[in-house]
Amino acid sequence: MTAASDPIVIVGGGWAGLAAAVELSGRGHRVVVLESSRQLGGRARRLAFGDDGVDNGQHLLIGAYRETLALMERVGIREQTAMLRLPLRLEVRAANGALVLAAPRLPAPLHLGAALLAGGGLRLGERWRALGFALRHYLQGFRLRKDCSVAELLADQPSRLKELLWHPLCLATLNTLPAQASAQVFLRVLRDSFAHQRRDSDLMIPRLDLGRAFPEPALDFVERHGGQVRLCSRVTALEVKDGRIAAVRLGSERLSAAQVILAVPPGAAARLLSHHGSTAPLADTLAQFGHEPITTVYLRYPVEARLPAEMVGLAGGFTQWLFDRRVYGQPGLLAAVISGPGEHVELEREPLAARIAAEVAAHFPTLPAPTEHLVVREKRATFRCTVGIDARRPAAATPLAGCWLAGDYTDTGYPATLEGAVRSGVQCARLVDTRLRPKTP
Ligand SMILES: Cc1cc2nc3c(=O)[nH]c(=O)nc-3n(C[C@H](O)[C@H](O)[C@H](O)COP(=O)(O)OP(=O)(O)OC[C@H]3O[C@@H](n4cnc5c(N)ncnc54)[C@H](O)[C@@H]3O)c2cc1C
Repeated sequence: MTAASDPIVIVGGGWAGLAAAVELSGRGHRVVVLESSRQLGGRARRLAFGDDGVDNGQHLLIGAYRETLALMERVGIREQTAMLRLPLRLEVRAANGALVLAAPRLPAPLHLGAALLAGGGLRLGERWRALGFALRHYLQGFRLRKDCSVAELLADQPSRLKELLWHPLCLATLNTLPAQASAQVFLRVLRDSFAHQRRDSDLMIPRLDLGRAFPEPALDFVERHGGQVRLCSRVTALEVKDGRIAAVRLGSERLSAAQVILAVPPGAAARLLSHHGSTAPLADTLAQFGHEPITTVYLRYPVEARLPAEMVGLAGGFTQWLFDRRVYGQPGLLAAVISGPGEHVELEREPLAARIAAEVAAHFPTLPAPTEHLVVREKRATFRCTVGIDARRPAAATPLAGCWLAGDYTDTGYPATLEGAVRSGVQCARLVDTRLRPKTP
């Protein structure tokens, strides 16, 4: 195969790699996606639980995830089919009461202001402090002169507000403990969710498992456009010639390539880039990204069992958010999400599931005992979104000509999310496309 006819090689079939593949295919380029595992989707993929398709982790999207929603439409998945869109309503239950934030039908950011002022379960002083915090950062454009931790950002907030609102939001969005999490990224999430349009803060709960929501239709799209997706295909090395990328290696197999997008997690990208002089410093930076876990415990109850809402927060125990999988057509199935590190990671699966079932029973005493469970631990669910992270996130272009980066950890400004992954893939694809287009004189 000559360099001119080489397809663009995309290493990694997670949401970032597939987003790049769809964007490039749609622009008329031939792509090959090489995925090391037996399945597409990476950290957002389907798992089997009995006869049900569940996910490796319960995912929640918000209305501000525009690129993700647009890309799903592009591969033929209509929003109404894939998502349940709910106006912002957060309910967090604790032993000593509950917080209920419900946004009225007002334009942004008034809807947030009204929700905080009406804040069910909060004392008057707490509501004013929450509103003051939101207003102050709105007026400052959600920008900090210098990044600090979320804990420092929230230093003047009452402890109940932190317990019921800010800390659950920090863990849910950044998957990093408030003492370490980047306040600047947290404020950016608040800005994108609340400052522009009311619809941005809508909660989007998938109705389809994560395989059907994008990776499978993306595969069809790429193949229909003449591209190829290969599973069980681990890229083991990059070949460089005359200072630019020449091929990828899969063990003994060589695949010639003039353009390669590495859409793999930072550690995997670091391993591939560390052997080449021009990219060794970049590899060092990527190797230093830390990771945080997310644990999901699925509990199966009789089909009549249901939660009072599609999603309920619990404070004070292991369980942070509970989802009623009725939304997916799986009545009786609940998903409990635990973001970040903690004592729960030390527990074996059985005692952890029993502990979660006990927490659910304490908050919803009319539920019967669960009949079955599945514990899914993702040890490297997201990159650790620490203070100063913005300065360490790499751009799509690398010092090695023809070699590009995509993935949720690149410099999208977002925490590790589907939207961050998709944005990075689409933006990277557009850069590659621009580079390959003949220059007009
Ligand atoms: C449990 C859990 C819950 C989450 N909850 C949410 C949520 O509620 N909302 C949200 O927006 N986000 C959530 N996320 C984050 C979101 O899933 C990720 O940010 C996103 O999936 C990352 O996509 P990616 O394509 O950047 O990386 P990945 O999904 O990691 O894709 C990289 C791919 O590269 C492959 N690969 C690695 N090395 C090689 C190699 N050498 N050769 C070939 N292939 C290789 C991997 O197998 C993988 O498929 C969650 C993640 C987890 C794990």
